Amino acid sequence: MAAKPRSQRVEGIVLRHREWGEADRLLTIYTRELGKVQAIAKGVRKPRSRKAGHLEPFTRAGLLLASGRSFYILTQAEAIAPHIALRGDLVLLGYASYIVELLDRFTFDEEENQALFRLIRNSLTRLDRGDAPEIVVHYYEIRLLDHIGFRPQLFNCASCEQEIQPEDQFFSAAQGGVLCPKCGGTVSEARPISMPALKYLRHFQRSSYQDATRAQIEQPIVAEIESLMNYYLTYLLERGLNTPAFLRRVRKRE
Ligand SMILES: [Zn+2]
Repeated sequence: MAAKPRSQRVEGIVLRHREWGEADRLLTIYTRELGKVQAIAKGVRKPRSRKAGHLEPFTRAGLLLASGRSFYILTQAEAIAPHIALRGDLVLLGYASYIVELLDRFTFDEEENQALFRLIRNSLTRLDRGDAPEIVVHYYEIRLLDHIGFRPQLFNCASCEQEIQPEDQFFSAAQGGVLCPKCGGTVSEARPISMPALKYLRHFQRSSYQDATRAQIEQPIVAEIESLMNYYLTYLLERGLNTPAFLRRVRKRE
């Protein structure tokens, strides 16, 4: 068995922190090299800590991690992108918190996933520089679902496989996608989805971020997409996580 290196340089994004002991913090960090890790930052709550300013939530930083008994020990930190705007505006803070919370809840410790790292890095950069937050967040949700193995089926009925026609449909979280009007009517948990909302979800699923930003989405459709994503993600978090089936599904994609 190869021994873990004693300390290693990584790049990571601080997802959250909590107080630990007298003057320390326990940080949850999503790193490019190791996936999600827990690390202790010693002494950062002391007034003169030099590391503290580099370890605020949403900050992307270069870090030196030493292997500890239960957690990594963070011995150096240097902010690369502090993302100050995300902590200075309540609306942006809300969106950024949502982005990191979803990542935190859909990932397990120390499962490296470079695509997920790039996704969260890019999403926070986009929010920080002032891109339309609804587009940033819905694009993030759709891509996140791809990376964790729950890409919703949006082009054929998730039950009978018939191609979806341009009309109002249903969406089933349990079946993982759109249902045609015939199938949707027989599934009690399925929710209606309008054709414009479906159109935007498909567009986000197939397009680069650049193309997705060209979409002009009207407010009622934004609200519909938000409510639908909330329904699907909540379903996955309550039913799918921490089960062997979920783990199998995630690992199969690696
Ligand atoms: Zn059908």
